[in-house]
Amino acid sequence: MYKTTIAGSLPKPGWLAEPEILWAPWRLEGEDLERGKRDASLVWISEQEAAGIDIVTNGEQFREHFVHGFLKHIDGIDWNKMTTMGIRDNRYDAEVPTVTGKLARRYKVHSDEVAFTRAHTKSELKFTLPGPMTICDTIADEHYGNRADMAMAFAELLNQEARDLAALGVNLMQFDEPAFNVFTEDVKEWGIAALHKAIEGLPCKTAVHICYGYGIQENIDWKKSLGSEWRQYEEIFPVINESRIDQVSLECANSKVPMSLIGLLKDKEVMVGVIDVASFEAETAEQVAAVIHEAGKYVSPEQILPCTNCGMAPLPRDLALKKLQALGAGARLAAKGK
Ligand code: ZN
Repeated sequence: MYKTTIAGSLPKPGWLAEPEILWAPWRLEGEDLERGKRDASLVWISEQEAAGIDIVTNGEQFREHFVHGFLKHIDGIDWNKMTTMGIRDNRYDAEVPTVTGKLARRYKVHSDEVAFTRAHTKSELKFTLPGPMTICDTIADEHYGNRADMAMAFAELLNQEARDLAALGVNLMQFDEPAFNVFTEDVKEWGIAALHKAIEGLPCKTAVHICYGYGIQENIDWKKSLGSEWRQYEEIFPVINESRIDQVSLECANSKVPMSLIGLLKDKEVMVGVIDVASFEAETAEQVAAVIHEAGKYVSPEQILPCTNCGMAPLPRDLALKKLQALGAGARLAAKGK
């Protein structure tokens, strides 16, 4: 039997935030907003469990964005000093805040939502935090002077946060590093070292999610520029395989990543992306099972955790639900050898 999970995010209900966009503004405020986030997470936990997803998340219903959801609570960042920055190597422009002083974590950031989520499911629980390199690619710097130093400073804060969350019963702590596919040299020079700092002393399993981004137009255009085969993983998987991270989440469904590259992760558990987050059609169970079988040619079935390619936050809610169900059904089908 394959253990299934999702990359992390799920769409917010239309009553909670504007649907189908990233950085969606909330539609509630104050007490209503806090209650709304909790209610939305309960909906998604129960939908994941009904779909047969084994390691669940709260669908990231508590945050507006996967990077800024953490940064909002960190000292040393000036949110009044917004800079337009070309992020992911100038793939798209984003309005980002600026680091103007020494970084520090004022308080536990995600403890309340994790305690709430933990209390409402008996399933294994995964929680996602942004990776140090991706944070550094989503913020302007006027203090540290180089990304490697700033990444280590963020990694220290992420480690404090991750330890607090693991103590609340998180089973799998995942760091999202889409920037790993862009700055492959930096991964070797300091990206892995920063990740190691972030996972130091954690009692739970750890994972890194490396993808080609959400299914938004800028990413779809970028993928077209990568040619017929995407081989970025080839440059970084050998060092990741040597690392102390337990699991690697990657993009395999409908992508031009040669499946053979996952053979470079022979010592890791592999969250194989079997659900395309850029297509507006739900996969069939047969399609999902076919990707799992293909992956099984290069790593052993025990290493495979069927997963989504990336977060489903920007998708229509009903579509995301169908994709969740296809993920569960496809994994069960594959387990029967079909
Ligand atoms: Zn992703």
